[in-house]
This record gives sequence, C-alpha cells and structure tokens, in this order.
Amino acid sequence: MSGTPTVAALRTAADFTALGREMHALVSELYPICRSITGEGLRRTLRVLQRETPLTIQEVPSGTAVLDWTVPREWNIRDAWVANAKGERVIDFKRSNLHVVNYSVPVRRRMSLSELRPRLHSLPDRPDWIPYRTSYYQEDWGFCLAHRDLERLPEGEYEAVVDATLADGSLSYGEIFLPGETSDEVLFSAHACHPSLANDNLSGLALLTVLARMLAAASRRYSYRFLFVPGTIGSITWLARNEAAVSRIRHGLVAACVGDAGPVTYKKSRRGDAEVDRAAAHVLKQSGRPHSVVDFTPYGYDERQYGSPGFDLAVGSLTRTPHGRYPEYHTSADDLSFVRPDALADSLSAYLSVVAVLEGNGRYRNTSPRGEPQLGRRGLYGSMGGYPDPGQLQMAMLWVLNQSDGGPTLLDIADRSGIAFDTIRAGADLLVEHRLLDPSD
Ligand code: ZN
Repeated sequence: MSGTPTVAALRTAADFTALGREMHALVSELYPICRSITGEGLRRTLRVLQRETPLTIQEVPSGTAVLDWTVPREWNIRDAWVANAKGERVIDFKRSNLHVVNYSVPVRRRMSLSELRPRLHSLPDRPDWIPYRTSYYQEDWGFCLAHRDLERLPEGEYEAVVDATLADGSLSYGEIFLPGETSDEVLFSAHACHPSLANDNLSGLALLTVLARMLAAASRRYSYRFLFVPGTIGSITWLARNEAAVSRIRHGLVAACVGDAGPVTYKKSRRGDAEVDRAAAHVLKQSGRPHSVVDFTPYGYDERQYGSPGFDLAVGSLTRTPHGRYPEYHTSADDLSFVRPDALADSLSAYLSVVAVLEGNGRYRNTSPRGEPQLGRRGLYGSMGGYPDPGQLQMAMLWVLNQSDGGPTLLDIADRSGIAFDTIRAGADLLVEHRLLDPSD
C-alpha cells in the first residue's frame, strides 16, 4: 500500500475547518427529513449518505424475526395537523415534523379540546420548545407542541389528522465495508431514526460519513464497517443477520451527539478495559481537551446491543455531551444552531486519533536487549532533524527499547511513559528501520 497515506498522516494533513463546515452542511441537508425507525424518510437519508460514500442500503421485510424482536411495519407520513373549527391549522406537521408523535397510527377525528388534551405533549419548563416523542411498538397517536401554544388553545371542537400509513414493507439500514490487510474489523455505528434533531443524531451520521470517506483513502490494517441503523431495532437486526461478521469485530465506537459545544465524553465498552477503551482514554488525555471518561451502562445508544452479554463486543461510545444531559436533548432546540462546525471537526479529529492508535498499536521485541544499543552510532541520538520534539522522540525510543520484550504493546508503553502514542509510534518506526525492533506477533 505504498503511496497510500496512513490514518495518522491523513489526520495531520486534514483541513478540519473545511471538514467541520462540510459536516454541518450535511446535517443541514438532512435536517428537514422526517425519519423514523422505518419508512421513506430513513431511506432518503441513506440515499444522501450514499452520494458521499460506498454505502449499500439493506432492506429487511416487516415481520422478520430478529433475535427477541420482530421487524416492525413500515411507517410513512404525508401530513398531520390539528385544525380549529374554522379549519385553521393550529398544529402543523409541515412546520415541524416534531409536531406529530413519531410512528403515530393514522387518524382523522373531530373532538373537543378536553378529549384531545391527553394526546398533546408539551414541556411546561421549556415553554417555547416542541418535545420529540415516539410511539414505537404500541399503537398510539398524538401531537407535540410548545407549551405556550398549548396554553393558547381555546375551548372548542378540533379536527386531528394523521395522514400516515403503517403497513408491511421493510426496515432499511445503511452499511459501508472497507476491507483492510486483515479481516479483523473495527465497527462504527450511528442511529439514523430521529426526525429534525441535529445533534441527536444527524451529527453522528455526518461525522461517520466523512470518517468513512477518509478511511477509504487511507492504508488500512483493519477492515472497517460502518452501520447507519434505526436505533435498537436496527442494530438488533444487523446483529441477527451477521453472525460471521460479528465474530470478526475487534473494536468499535457508537457515534452520537458529536456536534454540541460541550466537552468530549468517552463511554467505555461493557468490557471496560478493551483496547478501544484504552485508546480513547489515551487520546483524550494526551490531547489536553477537557473531557470525561465514564463507565459502561446498559442504557444510551446501540452500544447496549453490541455490548449485550451474548455478543460482548468491545464497542464504546465517543460523544460530546451525553444524551439526556443537555436541556435541548429531544426537543426542537436541538437544531442547526445547536450543532457547531468547530465541535464536529474536533470530534472527527478525536475519532481519527483513536483509529490511528488502533491502526498503529502492536507488540514488538528489542533485537538487542542486552544493555542499551548504541543509538549515537546509528544516528538516532541527539540530531533528529526536522522532528518537532527530538527530546521526546529520543525518550520514546528509550521507552520502546526498554519495554519491548514481546509483552507490552506500544499503547501500554505510551500510557506508562506518559508520551503521546504518535511519538511512541514514530520512535518504534525508526527503531524498526534500524533493525533494533521486530514485530513480535
Ligand atoms: Zn435520541
């Protein structure tokens, strides 16, 4: 693969300002589409991503048994509204797709405000925001609106209409596979089922799309798989249909909420001490970013499916502010101004750094382990022309030589020495070049 850049080199050369703007533009393009766990909105979203990447769209028929679940019927919505006696729309799906409870069954009914009232959802604490509500897996319908607008509705008769169909069809998900030198896989997954919500989770779709395009242009030790799935049912469907691929997954990350201004959060895999957990913690610590690393919990996004005990995959989740921890979460305030190009770019950079560690990590053996080999004679001491921090690189070589007895990995050595993985890797490359170091596996 000579001539093809490594992931680390691609990251160094990347114009993150431009990439941040590009990801934000993609979020903006997808924002108006009314997605759900099935249906045309989800499919249209995947087709947009297909324009940017070699994504294939898989369709799984309604009624298919997947693990303990069944693929649900396909939901397609054309319009929805609540109109007053004069026929004026007081709640209108065409103004915001959050106005209708997602997956609502079709309805056309006249009713008094008091009959309608239990079907109307609002946020008294945030009177200007429309909440996001769903009715998956139970036949129901309803509307969401700003509390201020709810309080202004006069008594009287209203017409409630959900012009939707709930019928046999299929569940769609998107998949990208990038083969590498080994069949061992790194999995990236994002949920693609939310309607007009920007951070949760259009930000994740945009980040993974750009990441996939970049990795497609890089040399790859690992094979990479990207999944764009409806939350829960999509990952369960994929797991049910891909037993062979599941057994090849070595590391993974679930992408969500990667565009807000908050600091980065890494949620560990169920295993807690997997290589991806250590790689993410190392990258965040070395970057100097404000960040937090939190333990696995069986809640959140699809990491809970990948990390269910029958699979126990080493899949963590790299987000900014976690789900439910920001007031805009699952409301109309999670909009295009809540997601920032610079935050998207910073998140992408963190993802690339984690991938660079996974790609570059390995175990080596010092070929001259009795006493320190004479580095000066080989031009490896003092005069590291062009390297930004020769002192650090020298220390990195000493650490790598000292620790490389076939036991510790380069990531172990980076953690133990407190030197950034990139520098440890660069030191190891020089030692390999001078035959002082051999791969041990
Ligand atoms: Zn959500």
